[in-house]
Amino acid sequence: MKPLSLIILLALCCGLSSTYAQSTQTSQLITAMLADTPLEEDLQHLCDVIGGRESGSEANDAAVEWAFAQMKAASLDVQLEEFTMPSLWLESATTASLHDADGEVFSPMVVSKYHSPVGTHRSTVAFARKGSQKDFQSLDVAGKWVLVETEKCMDIAGLFAEYTQAYEVEERARDAGAAGVVFMSSRPKKLLYRFTTSRGVAANLPQIVMAREDAQRCIRLLESGIELELSVTVTARESAQFTTHNVIAEIPGTDLADEIIVIGAHIDSWALGTGANDNGCNVALVMDIARQMQRLGIRPRRTVRFALWNGEEQGFFGSHAYTVDHAMELDRHRMAMSIDIGSGRIIGFFTNGDERHYEQLDRYLEPVSAMGPFLHIPNAIVGTDNLDFLLQGVPNLVANHKPYNYGLNYHASSDTYDKVDLQSLKLNSAIIAAVTLGYANEPNLATSRMTRAELDKVVKDQSLEFSLRMFDLWNDWTAGNRGLKN
Ligand SMILES: [Zn+2]
Repeated sequence: MKPLSLIILLALCCGLSSTYAQSTQTSQLITAMLADTPLEEDLQHLCDVIGGRESGSEANDAAVEWAFAQMKAASLDVQLEEFTMPSLWLESATTASLHDADGEVFSPMVVSKYHSPVGTHRSTVAFARKGSQKDFQSLDVAGKWVLVETEKCMDIAGLFAEYTQAYEVEERARDAGAAGVVFMSSRPKKLLYRFTTSRGVAANLPQIVMAREDAQRCIRLLESGIELELSVTVTARESAQFTTHNVIAEIPGTDLADEIIVIGAHIDSWALGTGANDNGCNVALVMDIARQMQRLGIRPRRTVRFALWNGEEQGFFGSHAYTVDHAMELDRHRMAMSIDIGSGRIIGFFTNGDERHYEQLDRYLEPVSAMGPFLHIPNAIVGTDNLDFLLQGVPNLVANHKPYNYGLNYHASSDTYDKVDLQSLKLNSAIIAAVTLGYANEPNLATSRMTRAELDKVVKDQSLEFSLRMFDLWNDWTAGNRGLKN
């Protein structure tokens, strides 16, 4: 054999053997994910034993300690990464009563939106219908509670619509000098849920969600000509800033170990329910992939970090802190994936403004094609832990799921273990495992960090200004205080 042919053959064999080794890793891991693992047991512990896990609460600390211990017990290299939350606000109770000229009419069921000012807030109620500009123009709401009606929320599209309406109503109410806002619950059967306000920790306007049936009763009374006063008492545990932790485990890579692939889910939740579909199920999924990779001794080419983010619900504080604390490494972050849309079957990925992901994603999904089909969407998601990676230009993905009990129970007292699609969650763990190893082993990633100019184009093309304003991040982004600087 001529030396050249020998070299070609050797190169081919080496290429083949490394490709073979990587596809073996992938099939080994997929098989392990689909076999019996502690996924359900972990989720049950997180939801039923620990329960709702608002950042700053004892339950949140317990969840962090438990996740750390679980990963340690699986012999993973795991760290608690401390960061500071700007302030503590944990609702103890919010009560309300409606009064007419003769006295109390009834006590509607309510919860406060995050960071509503504590104290008793009493004033007359003005019904502003859907809270449009026109609705506000035809009313004098100064010094009054503004009551707005909502569409029923059945799914993710409904949630986006509700967030949009809530933001616009909040701004209009503030501009008009309202005393507070009452949002009719978008879910029937007296279901209540917690949202943050657009000002987050800086919120100064009392805002409550009132049981749909109670708000409808209130509207009928107002429309019959009865003047109503609403008294709302908010009690909450408050303090200044506090520290909490992300839980970050790592499996070091081999020849490309300095390049980093992040897969993450947020460990915190609101505490009306037990944070099952949002987002305990995906915390259990991320932990399970880490554990199975470690158990099988899988060492991909790139380093994989498994992130359990904290402080997500209050405004993505944990993942933001990570991008600040790891700023010097972000050039070497080749992908950051968030899984945060529940337990319905994964049907593709949001590629967040970067269509270069498509071809490579499709290849990585081939070993799990029986669980497809998969369709990717170029839209950029503003609303979970991919956001600060997106704003930093780091290639990022958000898993898209077939809706399963998500919209209806979102942030609500009904987001409990029994709502999780356990069968799909199991399959999702294999899908995410395949994609993770795909990125971690890819010889030539098509995706790379974007420049500020490229990001500005994504922000413009995808009309992200409105969403960034909704989370009070627009000014920080344009001033270069959040995300990639010019
Ligand atoms: Zn979530």
